[in-house]
Amino acid sequence: MPATGRAGPGVRAVIAPNTPVWDDEPAWVPLAPLPGDASCDVCVIGLGGSGLMAVHALRAQAVDVMGIDAADVGAGAAGRNGGLLLAGLADFHHDAVQALGHDVAASLYRRTLAELDGLFAEFPDCTRRTGSLRIAASDAERADCHAQLAQLQADGFPAEWYSGVEGEGLLIPSDGVMQPLRRVRALARAALGAGARLHGGTPVHEVSGTRVVTAHGTICCRRVIVAVDGRLEALLPELAPRVRTARLQMLATAPSPERRIPRPIYWRDGFEYWQQLPDGSIALGGFRDTEIDQEWTHDATPTAAIQQRLEEFLRTTIGSRAPVTHRWASSVAYTPTGAPIAEEVRDGVFVIGAYSGTGNVVGALCARDAASWALR
Ligand SMILES: Cc1cc2nc3c(=O)[nH]c(=O)nc-3n(C[C@H](O)[C@H](O)[C@H](O)COP(=O)(O)OP(=O)(O)OC[C@H]3O[C@@H](n4cnc5c(N)ncnc54)[C@H](O)[C@@H]3O)c2cc1C
Repeated sequence: MPATGRAGPGVRAVIAPNTPVWDDEPAWVPLAPLPGDASCDVCVIGLGGSGLMAVHALRAQAVDVMGIDAADVGAGAAGRNGGLLLAGLADFHHDAVQALGHDVAASLYRRTLAELDGLFAEFPDCTRRTGSLRIAASDAERADCHAQLAQLQADGFPAEWYSGVEGEGLLIPSDGVMQPLRRVRALARAALGAGARLHGGTPVHEVSGTRVVTAHGTICCRRVIVAVDGRLEALLPELAPRVRTARLQMLATAPSPERRIPRPIYWRDGFEYWQQLPDGSIALGGFRDTEIDQEWTHDATPTAAIQQRLEEFLRTTIGSRAPVTHRWASSVAYTPTGAPIAEEVRDGVFVIGAYSGTGNVVGALCARDAASWALR
């Protein structure tokens, strides 16, 4: 589906279909494919935020690490998402407490807070600690916001009630936003600079703990980390009973000076989410649940039905008149519990993924764990 923006003063030109608003660095050179057979100590499959964080953690221990990707750095969800940096798991904290038990949920929440501190400190050029708003779209959701607030405050986590022009709900001051593609490319540059070998255009067909068979050669190694979110069950079919891939869609506008949105907003239980970029443009995603049968798919192409809903929401609820310049989609994996996959799935194959739509922070945390497991 084409974008509908038109070039004009202060308005971006119409861009290529299915390109995220984040892809604003013409000088980026895609990684070269694996040239043939190779060997390393640890092979990381998937060069999104999670895989690159694992590479980074392993290089920090001077491990001989190779990272490979079917496409390129940030070609998956990590370079195509909403850019919200949120503490906690996909489930709101009070729901996570119900599902996982208090101590596990609170400990994970605490760890994501620490991960956020690290992200803001390490990537000041592409992150902003703005806080985030969860705005209630109904009375029932307002009650749920109160329940979330009570649990967060009981556990001593930063959160306050919010009432303002956007509506009513929660303000989480520790959260923020990022330019996601810039962050993964920064991670990749740092990994290359630290001596990691990274290859794009190299799909993996078979994985064991000591052998990774790709389209261009076989990598012999001691351990493997699979850091794939969307389509994880295609690479490791034994996860299919626990993991399901969905398409998430977004659009972005030209600068929208009639709106000022200082913090990212999570709306209708997080089904819709948006942030305003420093140049005034708006990136908005959501409505997966309105076409749920179609959106459980491995296809990552935007559809007219969801894009229409997004645009209507942009005009009515958000109140932006700016032309739409970008429309895109990407794949993520969900689990029935909302808890990610982070475990040894085959001997020597450590898998992290299936963040149920909220993996920017949790993915980095799982990556550190996977790197330490691979070194045992
Ligand atoms: C539209 C959208 C909006 C989102 N918004 C947010 C948000 O605001 N906040 C948030 O926290 N999360 C958000 N998410 C979720 C978040 O983007 C993901 O959970 C996270 O980026 C996953 O990162 P990753 O590195 O684990 O996986 P990915 O970024 O998906 O990277 C996996 C990589 O593995 C590669 N790969 C896959 N299969 C193979 C194979 N067989 N061989 C070799 N390589 C392979 C892919 O090419 C890809 O580059 C959103 C996701 C989408 C799609």
